[in-house]
Amino acid sequence: MPVSTHHYSNEDITVLWQPALCKHSGICFKGLAPVFDHGRKPWIDMSQSTTPVIVEQVKKCPSGALSFC
Ligand code: SF4
Repeated sequence: MPVSTHHYSNEDITVLWQPALCKHSGICFKGLAPVFDHGRKPWIDMSQSTTPVIVEQVKKCPSGALSFC
């Protein structure tokens, strides 16, 4: 079964989010609330921080729901 993936890009990278893998741990929005805001649509806003900061937060996702390329 294909896994749905959402894409969020800035000028450097694309963050991928696979909702089926998300454990709703809150680590992303507690760690970097301006970018990861589950009350906003789209909930990831890449303009709210820098690429290195976003990358470090994505790496902390415990489930693998967040990744980047
Ligand atoms: S850190 Fe990963 S698993 Fe946790 S809420 Fe964010 S996307 Fe979901």
